[in-house]
Amino acid sequence: MALEAETKTVVSKFEYTDDDVNKGVEEFLRQMHEGLAKDGTSMSQIPTYVTGVPNGTERGLYMAVDLGGTNFRVCSINLNGDSTFHLTFTKVAIPKELMVAKTAEELFAFLAKQIELFLRTHHREHFEKHIRRRMTISSPLGFVDEEVFRLGFTFSFPVQQSGINKGTLIRWTKGFDIPDAVGKDVCALLQQEVDKLHLPVKVAALVNDTVGTLMARSYTSPGKTGAVLGAIFGTGTNGAYVEKLDNIKKPMTGEYDSSTGDMVVNTEWGSFDNQLNILPNTPWDIALDKASVNPGFQMYEKRVSGMFLGEILRLVILDLLQNKAISLFKDDNSASNDWKSTTNIAAHSSIYTQWGIDTAIMSVAAADNTPELSTLRQELESTLHIYSPSLDDAQAFKAVAGAVARRAARLAAVAIAAIVLQTGHLATTTAEDPVDIGVDGSLVEHYPYFRDMIFEALAVVDGVGGVEGAKRIRIGIAKDGSGVGAALIALVAAGMEKPATHNEYFRELRNDVQSLNLAAVPEDNEVAYSSD
Ligand code: ADP
Ligand code: MG
Repeated sequence: MALEAETKTVVSKFEYTDDDVNKGVEEFLRQMHEGLAKDGTSMSQIPTYVTGVPNGTERGLYMAVDLGGTNFRVCSINLNGDSTFHLTFTKVAIPKELMVAKTAEELFAFLAKQIELFLRTHHREHFEKHIRRRMTISSPLGFVDEEVFRLGFTFSFPVQQSGINKGTLIRWTKGFDIPDAVGKDVCALLQQEVDKLHLPVKVAALVNDTVGTLMARSYTSPGKTGAVLGAIFGTGTNGAYVEKLDNIKKPMTGEYDSSTGDMVVNTEWGSFDNQLNILPNTPWDIALDKASVNPGFQMYEKRVSGMFLGEILRLVILDLLQNKAISLFKDDNSASNDWKSTTNIAAHSSIYTQWGIDTAIMSVAAADNTPELSTLRQELESTLHIYSPSLDDAQAFKAVAGAVARRAARLAAVAIAAIVLQTGHLATTTAEDPVDIGVDGSLVEHYPYFRDMIFEALAVVDGVGGVEGAKRIRIGIAKDGSGVGAALIALVAAGMEKPATHNEYFRELRNDVQSLNLAAVPEDNEVAYSSD
């Protein structure tokens, strides 16, 4: 029973009350406003130069790549113009050594190589046609690029954006650490490596995954009003929302279209309350932060996202294991275990190493509501090499995991509620045409009842209006958000490109030739001017 009592104590330390939620929302709004007013605040509130959201009628073939945190995805997207799309993709795990490579080039060369493999596999015809063309047509300005794929580059790390396809890396998060890349334009880094491989690809837009999620949700969601917020709960957490241009008080350097009166803002809310004004701070939060690559930063993310929840749980479990007064994952003999076999933890169990518990097992724990918890107990064996855990052990594990995840969901609601209140849309919407929010990420997608826990917390927020009020908020999964969303931003960016400079070059050259009164030059035979 000592275990049960100790578990209760631990669980109570993760309680995040209704009152806490309201204090959180108030502080979140304050830090949002601070970020809109000046640079260098905890929440960066980065203008994205995207000034509108799509309505579902957009068309065309685009490429998108997504450097998320765990995987690198390459896709091509055909937008059908009727809120539907066709998407082809490949996904590869990012090698751990590249996350901490010496130079940016090492990582970006790997990314470009994956793009090449994708094109060779899925767009061979287009690829070969391009190779043939580029051997014939070029100008001093470079190759004629009308056959070039416009690519949206989803780069889910904090960047200082200065244009639709320009942005310098502010800092790495999520375990990446390549100092060489900090301060550099990540689009240029990717384009350089793409060009070295002579790929028919133009990095047309720099996309934060949250903005992509917002755009994708807007393109696909039902109803006439676009989405107001795109949010990620995956390896990391972040959100982008539609803000009134007038509310952005700090200076913006890049060009943008001000006619919509709106601008999508990337909050970088992972850094909300780095100063810990209101965020809960258990001994395990403190330990996790201390051992992280960026102590004192991403403090909200460290309590909310997939990368960290498993680690918080692990630190709690380690503490419980060290507590002599209780028995967790150990039996004196097989008789004391309902599985009639002695419990033990393998010496090589990843429970003893940092990041050794994947948050995915918390979903298994939450989903297993059988009296014997046999699924969870099997999972403890297969993934953590904890052999023959008893029912009591599994119950303790489930309770702690549930508490950590529940706190995360309620903290997620703080961000969502604050942004919904900031947009002011609740006043004008109904349950039939609600405020629409797109979410993406394995945590929100796979953790059972994560969205239900969010709604439970939303309903207690002052200004939301209880359970009925919360019904005027709709949270939908924006599947493949980074792919379709990035394609949509590449489409917007392609529309903003300066008119074809190549054609101007050829026209001038033709005029020069004619004024020299040389032999007549065929009107449309630009190939004749090929220089290589
Ligand atoms: P990314 O953030 O790289 O785009 P994901 O959205 O897939 O990728 O998020 C990966 C994170 O989600 C990892 O931290 C992982 O631990 C966590 N995760 C993966 N599967 C699950 C699951 N079934 N339940 C909860 N968390 C999960
Ligand atoms: Mg993702």
